[in-house]
Amino acid sequence: MTTVDLPLLPLGRGVDRASERGVECPGDLPQASDPDLVARALAAKEALGERVFVLGHHYQRDEVIQFADVTGDSFKLARDAAARPEAEFIVFCGVHFMAESADILTGPGQQVVLPDLAAGCSMADMARLPQVEAAWQAMADAGLQDVVVPVTYMNSSADIKAFCGRNGGVVCTSSNAEVALEWAFEQRGPDTKVLFLPDQHLGRNTAVLKMGYTLDDCVVWNPHLPGGGVSVEALREAKVILWKGHCSVHGRFSTKVVDELRATLPDVQILVHPECPHDVVLSADLVGSTEFIIKTIEAAPPGSVWAIGTELNLVQRLARAHPDKTIVFLDKNVCYCSTMNRIDLPHFVWAMESLVAGVVVNRIEVDPATERDALVALQRMLDLPGKSHKD
Ligand code: SF4
Repeated sequence: MTTVDLPLLPLGRGVDRASERGVECPGDLPQASDPDLVARALAAKEALGERVFVLGHHYQRDEVIQFADVTGDSFKLARDAAARPEAEFIVFCGVHFMAESADILTGPGQQVVLPDLAAGCSMADMARLPQVEAAWQAMADAGLQDVVVPVTYMNSSADIKAFCGRNGGVVCTSSNAEVALEWAFEQRGPDTKVLFLPDQHLGRNTAVLKMGYTLDDCVVWNPHLPGGGVSVEALREAKVILWKGHCSVHGRFSTKVVDELRATLPDVQILVHPECPHDVVLSADLVGSTEFIIKTIEAAPPGSVWAIGTELNLVQRLARAHPDKTIVFLDKNVCYCSTMNRIDLPHFVWAMESLVAGVVVNRIEVDPATERDALVALQRMLDLPGKSHKD
């Protein structure tokens, strides 16, 4: 089997609204040095009133999060937008796959705007539909397609969610990944296998740490290698086929820094997101979603000491909000999510002022067929028993 060669789309070249990359910002972007940007954003928001609803992901910069009507994780924000049908415009301060999910879950009268089209997600980019379809075909060739259930993390493009919808699979968040995997393993009898997309770490951490599978039960499918780099025998024996994708932010955390922090801050508690590598999660005291991290810090006693392994904007915001606790970042280097950070005040002002002027810029619109199939996979997630759906 050959691999699928896909063109790389460098940032800032041409306009491609269907892609998470390769886009320029059309129109007149205000200068970042403009001292009136905050006043301009406020004025635009006031002029639009109930017609606009601004969503701010937890990993966004303070300079834009201050204008958010609600903050949260990607799935909560998409649902919040759906619960505000009177809002004609949803301005999503987050990344491309999140805006797609908001478009899928909101009504036909609502238009979703992403202030910078280059705000993609490197993890979502690691699983592209032709690659996943090639892997699916390879599994069919190995006689396994009837027993493989695809499960995709919320952090994936709409066409990957649609692929799961079409093929008996489901979407999950980092809060309900365990329930989603349990559901998936019930779908094809005792021989069921799960293809987990696109984050190998969340898939591995869930399967091994929550569900009792072993590392040997997991194989990693590398779309850049023939046959995924997995022998047919290994594929047949595996229970979990992990897509070789990861978050470029959470993938940076290391046990070396965990050890150093434990040596220098003896009372430190290590709190990490399940997108971190398996050894980091194993070395942590607590692991959970962004909402779990926020709630854990809110409930922590004064004087407690925390090192947090998640996106830096959120860690810094938590540290400022809880001056009675010691909160440090679980990395020696500054590491923001570079694509999240593309949504800055100039882009926000530009998007909002354009709406005031009657021009909808950077609309994210999922095509009807993809939306229909993605909704199937999202609805299966909503129908899962028990746990919340926050990521
Ligand atoms: S933090 Fe990671 S998963 Fe989230 S948008 Fe950035 S690269 Fe993607």
